[in-house]
Amino acid sequence: MSKYWSETTKNIEPYIPGEQPKDKKYIKLNTNENPYPPSPKVIEAIRKTANENLQLYPDPNCDELRHTLANYYKLSPNQVFVGNGSDEVLAFSFMAFFDKKKPILFSDITYSFYEIYVKLFGLKHKLIPLDDEFALPLNSFCIGNGGIVITNPNAPTTKYVSIESLKRIVEYNIESVVIIDEAYIDFGGESLIGFVNNYPNLLIIQTLSKSRSLAGLRVGFAFGHKDLIEGLSRIKNSINSYTLDSLALAGAKASFEDETYFQSVCLKIIDTREKIVPLLKELKFTVLESKTNFLFVSHTTINAKIIFNKLRKYEILVRYFNKPRINNFLRISIGTNDEMKILVKKLKQIIIEIEIETVN
Ligand SMILES: *Cc1c(COP(=O)(O)O)cnc(C)c1O
Repeated sequence: MSKYWSETTKNIEPYIPGEQPKDKKYIKLNTNENPYPPSPKVIEAIRKTANENLQLYPDPNCDELRHTLANYYKLSPNQVFVGNGSDEVLAFSFMAFFDKKKPILFSDITYSFYEIYVKLFGLKHKLIPLDDEFALPLNSFCIGNGGIVITNPNAPTTKYVSIESLKRIVEYNIESVVIIDEAYIDFGGESLIGFVNNYPNLLIIQTLSKSRSLAGLRVGFAFGHKDLIEGLSRIKNSINSYTLDSLALAGAKASFEDETYFQSVCLKIIDTREKIVPLLKELKFTVLESKTNFLFVSHTTINAKIIFNKLRKYEILVRYFNKPRINNFLRISIGTNDEMKILVKKLKQIIIEIEIETVN
């Protein structure tokens, strides 16, 4: 705390990302990164750009990348916004669309950045409790609000909501902007992108960080009605003209031009996920059905925090949230097949260790 801090700085509680430790070589299953590298074509495009025009500013409108994305998703470029990671796109969206007078709705267990943006931008919010199975109660989103944010599939619960259900929420709330955060949609869900022409209040946000193996490049997108996209541009151009550097623009574009590579990585992760679920169930874990690149699991007898700490000793990092309702769960990112084999082996060992400890 410093006397020089503004009231805002004093009062914010920043987001704490999963750790990126440097001390040991951990198996990292804690931040939902992709275990596979990006397409070689992405690296090639970044190298080429690095050898060219870094003395120049990048294109502030990101026209080439927006055209590539528009073609890919069969939209027009004025329905596409790009930003420095989807966290930035989310922050801009909260600033651009959310009404200070009415509460912003999101579920009680979801991406924790939403609550931080609410506080940072002086908004109000109302948490919508997920039901006992962590399903989204659709009717609870049919109340007065200043905006809605839904992660689909949800993090960290992995729960997926059908297109039909989301469309009902978007239709009912035609007076406010409904943001669907689709950070994990490429791992088995169906995107709502095809419906942005139908609803002027629908904004879809996606990222290159998970399914496209580019967390380090920092690129996120929004798709929506051209007026929403113009609103986002107004905010962005009032803060920073160049949120994406030339290397990120080139790498992101190349990623969308290598569909075969992208599809093969997603399929590998889905395949690994489906193989590990029965193995965890054998070890008496409850595993929620996942359409993401991570699992949300709880052990029938052993406390999640204990397993988390023991895995850390074995140099495997997973994510534990010390929060009501989910403090007996672990979020485990899907790694390579080899990494997941080691995880299962260590979990077996940990369960035996704990059985011996409790007998003594
Ligand atoms: C990872 C994640 C993001 C942020 O992604 P970046 O593009 O890396 O900023 C946004 N929303 C959810 C739900 C995420 O899990």
